[in-house]
Amino acid sequence: MKDSNCDTEVIIIGGGLAGLTSAIHLTKLGCKVVVIEKNSYPKHKVCGEYISNEVLPYFAWLDVEIESLNPTHISTLQFSSESGRTIETQLPLGGFGISRYTLDEFLYQKALSQNCEILEDQVNEVIFKDDSFEIHLASGKILTSKVVLGGFGKRSNLDVKMKRNFIEKKSPWLGVKSHYKGDFKNDVVGLHNFKGGYCGVSKVENNLLNICYLTNFKSFKNYKNIEEFQKKIVIQNPHLKNILENSKTVFEKPLTISQICFEKKKNVEDHILMMGDTAGLIHPLCGNGMAMAIHSAKLASEQAIEFLKANISREQMEQKYTLNWNKNFKRRLWYGRILGSTFEHSKLSEILTSLITYLPFLLPVIIRKTHGKEINMTQN
Ligand SMILES: Cc1cc2nc3c(=O)[nH]c(=O)nc-3n(C[C@H](O)[C@H](O)[C@H](O)COP(=O)(O)OP(=O)(O)OC[C@H]3O[C@@H](n4cnc5c(N)ncnc54)[C@H](O)[C@@H]3O)c2cc1C
Repeated sequence: MKDSNCDTEVIIIGGGLAGLTSAIHLTKLGCKVVVIEKNSYPKHKVCGEYISNEVLPYFAWLDVEIESLNPTHISTLQFSSESGRTIETQLPLGGFGISRYTLDEFLYQKALSQNCEILEDQVNEVIFKDDSFEIHLASGKILTSKVVLGGFGKRSNLDVKMKRNFIEKKSPWLGVKSHYKGDFKNDVVGLHNFKGGYCGVSKVENNLLNICYLTNFKSFKNYKNIEEFQKKIVIQNPHLKNILENSKTVFEKPLTISQICFEKKKNVEDHILMMGDTAGLIHPLCGNGMAMAIHSAKLASEQAIEFLKANISREQMEQKYTLNWNKNFKRRLWYGRILGSTFEHSKLSEILTSLITYLPFLLPVIIRKTHGKEINMTQN
């Protein structure tokens, strides 16, 4: 069955941060856009919920008024080793704390208000033929479009269908997140290490405290459940002990995700421009994945517009996107991967985190290498 949307210019697969941002960008410039998102809004997601201020100039251009959501304003990073030895440093650009529940819903409403069509459905297959795309949905619908942007996150049924290289690689990480009521400074993001993982702590809107950690599966699997793991391992760091023992969760149970993989991915595959985590997931320790998802949406939208205006060919669109993506993110991801692989080895990560607390100049260097500059609206 062919759907009536066959004249859609751009179909965006996945309505997370990257997908919704590109939908807002493209509809602002008059494109006909359909976003396909398998889940309904609003929804909590496993995420540290600290966003670097590098996105602010771009959000201003998109008329996304983040301040209306009452985010916290974060300027200081507090870092501690497993033993609790601590250092603090100023974040050069700073950032803000906002829950994904609120942010994604806000971007969703903004996209809808700009006449973007958003379908709750799952994409099962994408076929490129005769210079256009056929998108097969779980509901049985088939849509067609000239351009497809991929914003389907870290790991999706589509990665398997497309036989993407990273899908066979090991993915030994587990992410856990809850919101809490508890005391914590509004302007601080905490990064506290424990055996086999690290935990991010920061305030988001409505005075809620987000506690989100990443641990390797090897250290988690020896415990019955999350509660036991937290009691026996996470709270060995005295900061985390203090925070967790004096806070009360507002979630019925923590959110978890597994099979997190930091392997290299291609940023254009089967003619789809991949954005956000679909193009490459930076280690969450760097606190830059959301800014990269938003920035990559800008880069992909700019090239899609040029192609739709017939200023460039499809081949040029793909090449320019790859070039700009590499220019902005390749190095950050490389540093993120080095950090990530260090954290896979307990002993090595213990040495590195202690070293960072004894050599305080290291932390600003790591931040510089894994963060971008403010997104420049006049350059790619
Ligand atoms: C533990 C952890 C902590 C983190 N903390 C931070 C942090 O503090 N700061 C930061 O900047 N980054 C952080 N990140 C990274 C950040 O969460 C991601 O980089 C960001 O969410 C990427 O956005 P995205 O749009 O690429 O993907 P997502 O926001 O995951 O969106 C992908 C969307 O695609 C949909 N989808 C998937 N497959 C299909 C399909 N076949 N059809 C239709 N829809 C589909 C999904 O339902 C989802 O809504 C963290 C990550 C982890 C794992």
